[in-house]
Amino acid sequence: MTARVIDGAAIAAGLRAKVAAAARNLARDHGLVPGLAVVLTGYNPASAVYVRNKAAQTEAAGMRSFVHRLPATASAADLLDRVAALNADAAVHGILVQLPLPPQIDAHAVLAAIDPGKDVDGFHPLNAGRLATGLPGLVPCTPLGCVILAKTVLPSLAGVAAVVVGRSNIVGKPLAQLLLAENATVTIAHSKTRDLPAVCRGADLLCAAVGRPEMVRGDWIKPGATVIDVGINRVAADGGKHRLVGDVAYGQAAAVAGAITPVPGGVGPMTIACLLANTVRAAAARAGLPPPEL
Ligand code: NDP
Repeated sequence: MTARVIDGAAIAAGLRAKVAAAARNLARDHGLVPGLAVVLTGYNPASAVYVRNKAAQTEAAGMRSFVHRLPATASAADLLDRVAALNADAAVHGILVQLPLPPQIDAHAVLAAIDPGKDVDGFHPLNAGRLATGLPGLVPCTPLGCVILAKTVLPSLAGVAAVVVGRSNIVGKPLAQLLLAENATVTIAHSKTRDLPAVCRGADLLCAAVGRPEMVRGDWIKPGATVIDVGINRVAADGGKHRLVGDVAYGQAAAVAGAITPVPGGVGPMTIACLLANTVRAAAARAGLPPPEL
């Protein structure tokens, strides 16, 4: 079997086009231009690239982008002051504090200081709690992107045996919650799971969010399963260069799976598209309008 490739880049482009249309409608009908503020603290090359991409795509979708840069020496109070100012700024509908933060700053305290209605990353404890209890709220972008991709292959996830490998607060746990909300039968695996290959082989939908290059092997995959690879790992390549690989051994997996996301070009592009979608949702909610059709 050769797996169908789930084209995250194309699906993300489609979502961005819907976001742009929703933003145009908000501007035309309500004079409302959604605004996304990103706070970058210190210099991390990967974060800097990511923040540039976010800003460009925000503007391309017809929204306002505000980028705030703080030095690596910034204190927690500096960052909390900035978050408070953005919470109070009516032009800002979404706030994203780029992680990781320098070691002197407690990320939990900063994330908890963001107005939950502007928490477009969905990391505030209130939004995490709303997701866990089945209430509407802003949902973390990468897991949201994974579910959208999975549903292009499995339109109904009801009763599907889903295994999520990884239990981080930003990917694994919220992804498991979203799949549960879709009525999948969800198993969460992690570094203490016994016989991980056997657990993975039980999955009709296997999501890997581990951060270990190509850890999931072809013989861990049930024939015909759908595989969503969240991992983004830089590994050494020939000529002193680097290349990106996922948490799944793509070549082996694609020979067994029914459908699979590539790296790059799978989950990655969906994350920013979902961030833009959350920003437009947050702007509409702030204005007391119904959620836009996306
Ligand atoms: P974390 O390091 O926060 O979490 C990794 C998880 O994997 C942990 O729950 C850990 O288990 C588990 N794990 C680690 N080693 C093993 C193992 N040998 N067997 C089973 N489970 C293991 O990572 P993130 O969730 O933040 O990110 C995961 C991956 O997704 C990374 O490659 C990251 O780059 C990528 N990513 C991609 C994004 C995108 O936009 N595409 C966005 C965010 C992340 P335990 O809890 O027991 O330690």
